[in-house]
Amino acid sequence: MSIEPQTATHGSEMSQATAPIEFLEKSRNAFPLWAALSVEERLVYLRKLRLHMVQHLDEVSVAIATGTGKVLVEALNTDVLPVLEAIRHIEKHARHSLAPQKVGTPILLIGKKSYVTYQPRGVVLVISPWNFPLQLPMIPMLAALAAGNTVILKPSEVTPTVGQLIEELFHKVGFPKDVVQVAHGTGEMGAGLIEGRPDYIFFTGSGRTGRIIQQAAAKHLIPTTLELGGKDPMIVFRDAPMERAVQAALWGGLMNSGQVCMSVERVFVERPVYDEFLRRLVSEVTKLRLGTNENDDIGQMTFPTQVDIVRRHVEEALMKGAKMLVGTRPSEWPEGTMTIAPIVLTDVTPDMLIMREETFGPVLPIVPFDTEDEAVRAANSTVYGLSASVWTSDVERGRRVAGRLVTGNVLVNDVVITIVNQNLPFGGAKESGVGRYHGPEGLRMFTVQTATMVDGGRRTRDVNWFPYEGKYPLFAELLKAYYGPNRQWGRFGRAYLRLLRLSRK
Ligand code: NAD
Repeated sequence: MSIEPQTATHGSEMSQATAPIEFLEKSRNAFPLWAALSVEERLVYLRKLRLHMVQHLDEVSVAIATGTGKVLVEALNTDVLPVLEAIRHIEKHARHSLAPQKVGTPILLIGKKSYVTYQPRGVVLVISPWNFPLQLPMIPMLAALAAGNTVILKPSEVTPTVGQLIEELFHKVGFPKDVVQVAHGTGEMGAGLIEGRPDYIFFTGSGRTGRIIQQAAAKHLIPTTLELGGKDPMIVFRDAPMERAVQAALWGGLMNSGQVCMSVERVFVERPVYDEFLRRLVSEVTKLRLGTNENDDIGQMTFPTQVDIVRRHVEEALMKGAKMLVGTRPSEWPEGTMTIAPIVLTDVTPDMLIMREETFGPVLPIVPFDTEDEAVRAANSTVYGLSASVWTSDVERGRRVAGRLVTGNVLVNDVVITIVNQNLPFGGAKESGVGRYHGPEGLRMFTVQTATMVDGGRRTRDVNWFPYEGKYPLFAELLKAYYGPNRQWGRFGRAYLRLLRLSRK
């Protein structure tokens, strides 16, 4: 099959003048040829993309770091690496996950075979945020493409250069024309694209926008996946591996300046080790290096609006009586600053914004607890449920407590990292999201799943078809023999044979 490769026009030039409806039309036109390719043929393009990205690793990482203010090692490890891992995973599993799956058929439907088949949906719209502006759009895009869909990406307007980078990557690798398009712009562009009725919407972003998108999608009954915010708890029991727990709170709470949906945003520490935990945490926080050089730890905030949200949460907490053990009071932040030095807060209460709403900044509120029940209740007390962690040297207890948390992801003696394991489904509970991606679900969500049954076609009629004359007592007999306390195969067989005879008349 020959399909025309995408021209190497600079993406943003190409898409700037394009109206939402034109993106949809082009995507629909490109769909039949892309969908007609075998999974193997589509994977050739994904492999090329992986190799291209590896070849241009430094360029890609620098472009992300520059576009976001994050430090280079985070651009590499938290944006590029997950994309490469996802491509590898898709290359390995897509053939099997998208092939027809044979499933069992109950004996009552004797003579038939059952399968589930997976056909591409059509045009998939991916709408993404700014905090991981490479991996969050690209992973669902790649899964949708492997499953045979054409894709329109609406990247975040906060990180436009990374949106351009994604467009260029797909162009350079030579994906066929219009199979992948990038629609740069604000939420207005996103809303316009939804009005064009894509066949699926994969959204990552805030709960506020998620609600708007789901309402807009509902008007046309467009299925959606929503990956939304979090307020992730970390529960540290007295028998926790203490130094590891402290280091994990640092990395889990402050990585990417805390602008992570799975950030540790609340730390609950069992009272007997509370003081020790605080002492060690404060000492470690002060060792972190601020800046955007290669060896720095804490980079910049990505955009001023987020600085304002962090300021509001911290100011409110301090006003209501919280204590700042380390950090700078917002009133002392230089005008227009994009760097927030990490903040550790104590004496916080559940009513404070810092304990209820997503802060998305380098702030760690620490709270003591006395009992397991109290910790679980506190951890589950927000409207969110994206990720959580439990810290104890008793792994059995860790798994038990983990099982009581209402959350899409949970870790014992670890933080955040479930998102990198493509074998695990990723998504949120409660207001943290709707749906799951990664793993086989991550591919199949972009398909129409068709329940398929095949009959040899030799019988004129099935036993349950018309006419019904004389069949009621025989079916009643069949059901009693089959579903009663002990299965009675002789009784079942006799009733079934009589039904067959009636059906042949
Ligand atoms: P946001 O909701 O403001 O914007 C996300 C995207 O939606 C942007 O591309 C934006 O232009 C677009 N958009 C805005 N209004 C729209 C509309 N009416 N119709 C269509 N599209 C519209 O989110 P953000 O500030 O970019 O990202 C931060 C949020 O994302 C945080 O809440 C964070 O927790 C969440 N997040 C979730 C995950 C996850 O996997 N669960 C991952 C990262 C970030």
